[in-house]
Parts: sequence; C-alpha cells; structure tokens
Amino acid sequence: MRKLRDRISEPVKRTVRQKCGYACIICRQIPYDYDHWPHPYSGPESDRADNLILLCDSCHRKRPSTYSNIIIKQFLNNISRTPPGFSLAATQSNFSIVWPGVTIQSRQSDIRIGGKEIVNIQVTDNPLEPVIITASFTNRAGHIVSEITRNEQSHILKIFRDNVWDVQWLSNRGIFRQKLGDVYLDISLSSSEIKIRRLCFCYKGIAAIGDERRGLRIIKGYQALEINDVEFNNVNTAIDLEGSGEYRDFINVNLWRLPANQTHRGMRYLDVRNSSVIGDVGDPVFVF
Ligand SMILES: [Zn+2]
Repeated sequence: MRKLRDRISEPVKRTVRQKCGYACIICRQIPYDYDHWPHPYSGPESDRADNLILLCDSCHRKRPSTYSNIIIKQFLNNISRTPPGFSLAATQSNFSIVWPGVTIQSRQSDIRIGGKEIVNIQVTDNPLEPVIITASFTNRAGHIVSEITRNEQSHILKIFRDNVWDVQWLSNRGIFRQKLGDVYLDISLSSSEIKIRRLCFCYKGIAAIGDERRGLRIIKGYQALEINDVEFNNVNTAIDLEGSGEYRDFINVNLWRLPANQTHRGMRYLDVRNSSVIGDVGDPVFVF
C-alpha cells in the first residue's frame, strides 16, 4: 500500500495541518508525518481528516503504548492553547544560506524592502540550537497578513480563524502559503545549508520573486532587477531593496556589511515585458 501521505488528498492534508497546529500534536516538533487516529484504524476508508493527525517520528514510535487514544485526544483538545512555533534541526559549523540566485556563506542573512525585514535567517554558533527564521508574509495588495517572529508563527490564531494560511513541514522541507499552489516561501534544510527554494513577497509596490532555476527578480512596474549566480563569502549580508533609488529611478540595492572587495556580477536590470537587458548594476547603487 502507498504511504499514507501519498495517498490522502492535498485538501485533506491541509485540514489536518490546520487542525494540528502545523506540528506534531504531542511534542510540537517538525518534521512530522500524517498518522491515523484513533488506533487501530481500519483501512483506506479512515483516510479522512477526522481520522488523521500529525506526529513526528519519535512520538509515532511511542504509540500506542505511551500515547493511547485518550492521551492523543487530550493533546488534540489542547492544540489551541499550545504556544505556536517550530524548531529546525541542528547544523554544521560550515554553513551556507542559499537564496534564489544568491549563495551566502554565512550564518545570517536577510532580504528587506525599504528597511522592512521580509525574511531573516540566523544560524547560531551553537550546533544544537535551531535555525531562527523571521518573516513577514504579505498578500497580493502588499499588506502583511501573517508573520513568523523567531520561529513563532505569531498570527496562527488568525490563520485558524480565517482558514487561510497554511504551513507544511515534511522531512526537512517547509512550505508557507496562503492557499494550495500559492507558495510564498519554500525552505529546505540540511546540516550544511538552508536553501530558500522559492519565495514570493510584495511590499510597498515592490515584488521579490525567486526560485532555484531563475534566481531572484525584484520587480517594480515593468522593470526588474535580476540576481543570479551571485556568491558572497564569510559576510553576514542584508539585501535591502529601496523603492526610490536614484539609479534609473528604480530600485536601490543596499548590500549591508559587504566588504568592498566582493563583486556583484550576476546582477542586471531587465524590462520584464520582453526580458531585454536595460542596464548593468554599477557601483553607485551599492552602499557599503
Ligand atoms: Zn512528536
């Protein structure tokens, strides 16, 4: 028989994630997997959201002896009173943060628009501490509708009420989205890197859209700044995208804390209507 998570439909999985608060219902850890409840279950007809829960590997192994049906029901009833949040796995000392189009060998990096932190990633020097993620999620109108503050999904109650936001963690990969197929942040983590596989944010009329294949595009009106194959070593880099830059009346890119000897090849301005190049990024747009 196919694995449970491959067999149940996406809408059912989403309902289960919302019901369980986006983490193992017992220890609140990620990654998790889908599991039947109550135990024992009776085949595919029990693949309904009512009969499914999220459990991590470790808690899964302890059922049904430690975690009986009654205990699991108590955890399910307590989900709304459990502090939201998640914890990512420990990491090696040699670490990279890989944005679409930009690899940064460093333990801290963020993307800001007009000074506002859109995504911030920090890895502490303690290999036992989790990766710390802070992010602001915006809707298409550019309004902030949900936030993660140091791994705490602060609007999680709003998520439940609006039945809108969805956070999915499976194995080492996390996907944050407003609805199915509408991905705002797609992250995977290994012991040597955290990779942002996909991101899509809009703030103050500037959209930051990126994926592994096409790199990062910062779009304002019909002009775009494309960033691809850029690498920074041993610097904690913040990319700050201003909406009122002096260069071509377009987006100002401020790379904070970046030593002057590091290059910025791989960045260019495009006309998004026909993908033609309208300019290279020159030194004046960088503020060191
Ligand atoms: Zn658990």
